[in-house]
Amino acid sequence: ALKIVGLTGGIGSGKSTVARLFADLGVPVVDTDDVAHALTGPGGAAMPALVAAFGDAVRRADGALDRAAMRDRVFADPAARARLEGILHPLILAESRRRLAELSGPYAVLVVPLLFETPAFLAEVATTLLVDADEDKQIERVVARSGLAPDAVRAIMAAQLPREERRRRADAVIVNNDDLAGLALQVAAKHRYYLAKLANPSE
Ligand code: ATP
Repeated sequence: ALKIVGLTGGIGSGKSTVARLFADLGVPVVDTDDVAHALTGPGGAAMPALVAAFGDAVRRADGALDRAAMRDRVFADPAARARLEGILHPLILAESRRRLAELSGPYAVLVVPLLFETPAFLAEVATTLLVDADEDKQIERVVARSGLAPDAVRAIMAAQLPREERRRRADAVIVNNDDLAGLALQVAAKHRYYLAKLANPSE
């Protein structure tokens, strides 16, 4: 069966970039953020349950989830957040499994931003790969990409698992503090390692 590498990292650490570098090497990639977007888009499979739980206010006219309204709804309401995750996580897991089942190759990469925080996803993967970057790099990149204020990025980082905890839990780490050429070399090295380790686990 296809072995799955769970790719994770804090906000702006470089998960999507690393996933793209694996894809460039021919490794199939499933990104749970993409899956979540599909499930909460117009006619998405999560929409009926979300509207039943939170009301019409969280559905836009086009049928997609109103992300801003949903964020406001769960902000400072842990019970509502738990309900949201209780609806979304099993659907994301099922759809990710469905997509992974269609893939072939020695292994695939599953991108899960909160991998260590969500045991159901952790149970899905053979091994974990962390993209780790210095916090000032994370902030700089997210600010450049999104225009968020540095303090807003810090607030998101504060809600995620601490960097040291992620590093303790990860089976392997890619450090993304420097240029993209260096990142590509690290991904190539991990690719060789996974080909050897995951394709022939008995050797
Ligand atoms: P998020 O958690 O917000 O989804 P992410 O972990 O997927 O982010 P990316 O989107 O890959 O992170 O990277 C964040 C931003 O930083 C992107 O604009 C990306 O192009 C840029 N970036 C990532 N790595 C590097 C690098 N080594 N050098 C320069 N820019 C980089």
